[in-house]
Amino acid sequence: MVKKQTGCPIFDNAVDSLEHGLRLYQDGNYPNAHKHAILAVYQAVELFLKDALYRINPVLIYADIDKQVRDDSRTVGFKDAVVRLENLNVHIATESKQSIERLQKRRNVIEHLEYKPSDNDRSRMADAIKVLYDFVPQYLKDGELADYIDDDLWRELQVFILDYEKLVAEAQTQVDELTTVPPGDYGPEVVECPQCGNATLVIGGRNSGDYCFFCRRTLPMAQCCDCSEYYPAEMLKEVSRCPDCMWAQGEKG
Ligand SMILES: [Zn+2]
Ligand SMILES: [Zn+2]
Repeated sequence: MVKKQTGCPIFDNAVDSLEHGLRLYQDGNYPNAHKHAILAVYQAVELFLKDALYRINPVLIYADIDKQVRDDSRTVGFKDAVVRLENLNVHIATESKQSIERLQKRRNVIEHLEYKPSDNDRSRMADAIKVLYDFVPQYLKDGELADYIDDDLWRELQVFILDYEKLVAEAQTQVDELTTVPPGDYGPEVVECPQCGNATLVIGGRNSGDYCFFCRRTLPMAQCCDCSEYYPAEMLKEVSRCPDCMWAQGEKG
């Protein structure tokens, strides 16, 4: 997938920090990788919170908006950003705030004192990354974090950094909500996603596009004209039959 560009400076900066953090999270060779990963992930958290404010009104990222705002005016920190967002009806769960606070504490010690590797460095980061995983699509409205993150890093994030089973279960819940209809009605169809292999791809599931709630991507699908099975639209572009039906036809002919 080609990564989308936003042209939104704070968002792009946040994505860059997050990607940097994700790369270091798994890097066993880079010296003190986790020290740098913690700094990068925490920075990403602060930037995404600021971006959410910026999109409401750019002036909201500044700490003191009763004074004239300049480019070098001090910007809000994590705590104030969260309060501001809440006053603007953008809610962040208590548990999520605590996850960010725990990472902030680690970051403060590193930034002002020293870095002592800890067994929970990874879980501290993973918890904060999970907050972003849920929060960013919530405020983006017209997009997904997945659209802007490098494909390999996104896969790594879903499979190795966060709790894969939990993410699948969450996606499944969303699919169930969407596809549960009164008896006698037909809900949207759910098929196996060709990318992740989970039964979380809903035909016409989001903005009338075929959407995988696990991958968080739109994946255009098409039906084979013989067996009606769904395949990636790309695959049936030239011929409208799936490989199985093509093969069966060959057999006949
Ligand atoms: Zn998928
Ligand atoms: Zn077929």
